[in-house]
Amino acid sequence: MSVVGIVPAAGAGERLGADVPKAFAVLGGRPMVEWSLDVLREVCDRVVVAVPADRTAPPDFVAGGATRSESVKNALDAAPEASVVVVHDAARPMVTVDLVRRCLDALDGVDGVIAAVPVTDTVKEVEDGEVVRTPDRGRLWAAQTPQVFRAEALRRAAGEATDDASLVEAMGGRVRVVEGMRENFKVTTPLDARVAEMLLAD
Ligand code: C5P
Repeated sequence: MSVVGIVPAAGAGERLGADVPKAFAVLGGRPMVEWSLDVLREVCDRVVVAVPADRTAPPDFVAGGATRSESVKNALDAAPEASVVVVHDAARPMVTVDLVRRCLDALDGVDGVIAAVPVTDTVKEVEDGEVVRTPDRGRLWAAQTPQVFRAEALRRAAGEATDDASLVEAMGGRVRVVEGMRENFKVTTPLDARVAEMLLAD
């Protein structure tokens, strides 16, 4: 069994407002992506990173695509040996070895496992500035990465989505949820970067 980590790190990160691609912005004294690489390399046999085209370094730093889904696909195509895949966003530098292991351990009998946390805000579905629906908060979880898959399930799942699990779900795949960590938030805005700096300093 070959466990391959896939790290989408090819986003521009315009909302962060840094002058380099988000995954390479310095956070806690090093490029953000390196925090995740340290963790994944402890757990995976190999880690493939999807990066902006001018930062490729074969065979493990491959060119990402125009969308996150394309970036994941490019990295997956570079890892034909994978039997299990651990997808983790470079933008979540607070991931831990323990969380990745808990996801891997839960893969028994399902196609995928995602880390997620129960939402704390009430979520509204809005159209043209008006609420059209308020889903029951008790059933809502916010999906994070890591997201772990049987490689063949992820290879079959094509298309565009904001996470990989939804593509596997759309193919009828079973996806289990393990409780993630609030600290494992996605660094998106300058505020997120400030909070992440504090946490990584510990
Ligand atoms: O865009 P968002 O912040 O949701 O991106 C999540 C992750 O996907 C980031 O680590 C980002 O670098 C990556 N990404 C990518 N290729 C893209 C867009 C985003 O690898 N085209």
